[in-house]
Amino acid sequence: MTPYLDISYAEVFKYLLLALTPLLLCAYWIYSLKKSEKARKDSELKLHAILDSAPIGIWLTDLEGNFTFVNQTYCDAIGLIQKQLIDTSSLMALIGQMKKDNCLASNQACLRQNEPYIGHESIILKDGKLHDLEITKTKLLDSSGEVVGIIGILVDITERKQAELKLKQSEAHFRFIAESAQALIWVADTQMQYTWFNKMWLDFTGRSLEQELEHNWVESVHPDDLQNCKDCFASHFEQQQAFTMEYRLKHRDGTYHWILDNGTPRFSLGGKFEGYIGSSFDITERKKDEGIIWKQANYDELTGLPNRRMFQDRLELEMAKSHREKCSLALLFIDLDRFKAVNDTLGHEVGDLLLIEASKRIISCVRETDAIARLGGDEFTVILSGLHDTLNTERITGLIIKKLSQPFNLVEQEVYITASIGITLFPNDGESISQLLKNADQAMYRAKKLGRNRFSYFTPAMQDTAQKYLQILTDLRSAIAEQQFQLHYQPIVDLTTGQILKAEALIRWYHPSMGLISPADFIPIAEESGLIIEIGDWVFKNAAQQAKYWLDTYGLTIQISINKSPVQFQSSEDSTNWIKYLNSLGLLGENIVIEITEGLLMETTESIVRQLLQFRDAHIPVSMDDFGTGYSSLAYLNKFDIDFLKIDRSFTRNLSPDSSDMVLSEAIIVMAHKLGLKVIAEGIETEEQHQLLKAADCDYGQGYLFSRPIPADEFIKLLIQNNDSVAN
Ligand code: C2E
Ligand code: MG
Ligand code: MG
Repeated sequence: MTPYLDISYAEVFKYLLLALTPLLLCAYWIYSLKKSEKARKDSELKLHAILDSAPIGIWLTDLEGNFTFVNQTYCDAIGLIQKQLIDTSSLMALIGQMKKDNCLASNQACLRQNEPYIGHESIILKDGKLHDLEITKTKLLDSSGEVVGIIGILVDITERKQAELKLKQSEAHFRFIAESAQALIWVADTQMQYTWFNKMWLDFTGRSLEQELEHNWVESVHPDDLQNCKDCFASHFEQQQAFTMEYRLKHRDGTYHWILDNGTPRFSLGGKFEGYIGSSFDITERKKDEGIIWKQANYDELTGLPNRRMFQDRLELEMAKSHREKCSLALLFIDLDRFKAVNDTLGHEVGDLLLIEASKRIISCVRETDAIARLGGDEFTVILSGLHDTLNTERITGLIIKKLSQPFNLVEQEVYITASIGITLFPNDGESISQLLKNADQAMYRAKKLGRNRFSYFTPAMQDTAQKYLQILTDLRSAIAEQQFQLHYQPIVDLTTGQILKAEALIRWYHPSMGLISPADFIPIAEESGLIIEIGDWVFKNAAQQAKYWLDTYGLTIQISINKSPVQFQSSEDSTNWIKYLNSLGLLGENIVIEITEGLLMETTESIVRQLLQFRDAHIPVSMDDFGTGYSSLAYLNKFDIDFLKIDRSFTRNLSPDSSDMVLSEAIIVMAHKLGLKVIAEGIETEEQHQLLKAADCDYGQGYLFSRPIPADEFIKLLIQNNDSVAN
């Protein structure tokens, strides 16, 4: 064994390993270092890639403001490449001194404060347009928490700013429109809480916007309209529907004004319901006008009572109520008697006062629940409802008649008037408004016929009369054209000689189905309808032609009396037509006599006087018919130049030597003679009447004793016979 090789191979390996270990560790360390550097670079690259692809600009600076990093978005916006930007001077050149100062100042601010710094800049970017940028700067800390720089974030808010601007503009527009509109505008949220009002609304309520928003709207709405409003809101809100309603809103002066409110639902751009917007209009004036129009349409201006229209509505309601409550109602038709005379003699003003006073008296007779109306002229109606017997009706009707008959003190004069009342009962007498009205009207006419100042109940017989009336009226219109009329002649005898010198022409109507209809039945209808004018002309012309025929054919002059009713005088201006007709036939005035009634002279007008004078001037005598039945006044006879006086049949009928009618007849004859009038006694049926009248010096007689009214051919035979017998 050699001394130099006293080391084992194992030891050699051990020492070798010891010597190499630091080298190996060093190599491993270098390897690890290289590996972590790569990882760091990889992660940095990854981070940069993420930052570059972010839609916002991001950069890092050191504490002096030098860029250490900028992302691609930032570079794209600015229009520089990253390398250029890292060179601070090129950025500063780009943004200018002013902005550079701002930039450095904001960096300082960021470093000073704890929170991020947020600032705004307007910069022209690569695209050449001015952009609004929002810049956020935050401190950059290292791992030990040391501030080493600034992280900057840049967001292009140009579009957002523009959208905001547009929104502001449109809001300003809306406000301008809302403020300048002539409407009260409000905005409400989804809970129907008001959120805004325009100036006009605030002017209306007299509150500021804040006060109005605090105010409970319920207190401003008229209590009567509140429920309506709530119902309207409720029903439309749920469905998010537009609504229109009218209600009364309290004005700043404390009065309520009528408002027409239009509410429209509001939706966001995304279609979300956001509440309502409404425009309201003050329609108080329109409502007032409507009210006035309604009042004019439903109330009588003079008395303030409901008019015909309103009355019909009320009657309909009352009828329905009676039906439900199983009771009856009475309809009273009140007509003032001879009201026309008051109007004519005292003037329309007094007439109006009388109507006002009369309406008050009627009101005082009925309960508050009873309805009174003025149908027009002197006609009033009363509806007495809730009746269980007729006793009350009679009591009230009697009271109305009594109150109206008491004197009226009008413009310092006492005026007397009475009333006639027709009563009809629902449902007994009729079940329709028109039927009840007709009934009450007929019953009222009945009361008038019975002597006025009384009431009369409707009876079915009146209905028959009314129907007959209507039938006659309809048929009368065609009677002339269809030649259904004929004239009969009744002789008028000279009581001294017994000679027939005159005849009264009396009309006869041969109705095709009803047979002979008495003039007493159709003349009043002809008078009321005005048909008497046409019929009267027909009578006159026929009678004149007949006189002419007898003159020409037999050489006999017979004086024919023609009845002319007051209506004929009233509707005509003069009598020249008839006179001309007589002349055209070559007849004299004396061939005709006009019979008038006392009623005509009671209400004389200028025209009536003129017509009477025209007859006198044409030598046509005038005869006063039915003397003693009306307001007989001998003064009239004198005043109007009357030639004959016909004592009415009602006197002749009861003549006996000592009767009062005898005394009256004698008196009339004496007085008439004194006034230069000749007297004709009507209705002589007996020889006794004949003799008594003759003895009383009556000039002429007419009656069945001598002859009934007979057709023309029979009359001429009678006349010739009479002439012969008188001659013998
Ligand atoms: P009046 O003008 O008073 O005519 C006389 C009426 O008495 C006639 O009735 C005649 O028939 C009737 N009379 C004549 N003598 C007697 C008698 O002795 N006893 C009875 N009980 N009656 C007698 P009449 O023809 O029915 O006419 C009725 C009324 O109708 C007339 O009354 C007259 O007011 C009216 N009247 C008739 N014809 C016309 C006409 O053409 N025009 C107008 N406006 N009225 C007429
Ligand atoms: Mg007559
Ligand atoms: Mg007569």
